[in-house]
Amino acid sequence: MDLIKSVTSIIDTVKKLKEINDKIKDADLKNVIADLNLELSEIKVKLSEMINENNELKEKIRIIEDTKNQKEELILKNDSYYTKNGDGPFCTGCFDKSGKKIRLIKNPIIAAQDFGKYKCPVCGNFFR
Ligand SMILES: [Zn+2]
Repeated sequence: MDLIKSVTSIIDTVKKLKEINDKIKDADLKNVIADLNLELSEIKVKLSEMINENNELKEKIRIIEDTKNQKEELILKNDSYYTKNGDGPFCTGCFDKSGKKIRLIKNPIIAAQDFGKYKCPVCGNFFR
């Protein structure tokens, strides 16, 4: 963010240079200022892209670390996850894929109990 401010400040300084040169009317200096302006604009755009990319990467790292921390607290039982406090069951597939704890629901169809006692409301997998 501070880098963007610095570049913006340099662009302002170049504008002032241009105003001064408008009085002097030096053709060479005018060209140099125009080049400088162009290069600075490009730097500002690239900087914004880098900041966005950096924020996206930080978010990805946060999700990976959250998932890792939560996984250390989960226990695998009957092919589904439970917390150490016994809360659960949670879907293994959904957690391993997205890091989200999806609470399993009781299989609503009695005739389909053979598939499993529980069902994941998100991915639809059955669990014992
Ligand atoms: Zn699921």
